[in-house]
Amino acid sequence: MRSIRSVVTLVAALATALTAILFVAAPAQAAPNFKAPYPCGQRWTYSHHSAEVRLALDFVRADGGGTAGTPVLASAPGTATRHYQSGGAGNYIVIDHGGGWKTYYFHLAAYSVGSGVWVNTGQQIGTTGSTGNSSGAHIHYEQLYNGVGQTIRINGASLAPYPGSYHQKYLTSDNGCGGGGGTAFWTWGSGVRIRSDAYLSSPTVGTLAGPTLVYVLCQKQGDWVSAEGYTNNWWSKLRDQNGFITNIYIDHPASQLPGVPVC
Ligand SMILES: [Zn+2]
Repeated sequence: MRSIRSVVTLVAALATALTAILFVAAPAQAAPNFKAPYPCGQRWTYSHHSAEVRLALDFVRADGGGTAGTPVLASAPGTATRHYQSGGAGNYIVIDHGGGWKTYYFHLAAYSVGSGVWVNTGQQIGTTGSTGNSSGAHIHYEQLYNGVGQTIRINGASLAPYPGSYHQKYLTSDNGCGGGGGTAFWTWGSGVRIRSDAYLSSPTVGTLAGPTLVYVLCQKQGDWVSAEGYTNNWWSKLRDQNGFITNIYIDHPASQLPGVPVC
């Protein structure tokens, strides 16, 4: 296996430094449940070398399949933006997951989503390539909290200690393997009531204490609700809570959520 070395210059170093200063006193927000950035069932190997930035890891396939051209998947839901850096990251995507958390995916051969679009866990955001400062196809992957690189965790488990070369450690993806279905969104606000149907007269079946990752099965129009300066009559049916919340508390700007069927 060819040794791959990518040296990436600091991206938005000034913004990162400012963010770190501004948020130094903020308590840590719970991280999203990050999944591997490549498809379900694939086995890849990873490494971190001395010139690497921000606790990044580089991933290449180790299951016999070709690394180049393999889909790169969002490891958690969020808003994707496209970026390009000729001498470093090449084509890359940043996903803002909210709560100060972002993930970076460098050296893409191509983008699969536009800038500013919402992506779900497991959604393809690009294809693996070697653009920018890279000597072979790989995914350079990072998890940042308030602009500071964090030790990478997948399904809640740390990948540390990082190996210095490939084929010492491996990770098989369960990203996009399926499950109960629905489209992932974050909620916002606190004490958000879950009701048995899309009406204010429907019994309360639960409460979301704070921002929560939810899976929306479908949505429908029910009672009009006014809260937090918004008015909306669309409600989302939540997979895991088995009830409805007003779309006001779904962290997405649209009244009717994109990509979610009507119940
Ligand atoms: Zn790298």
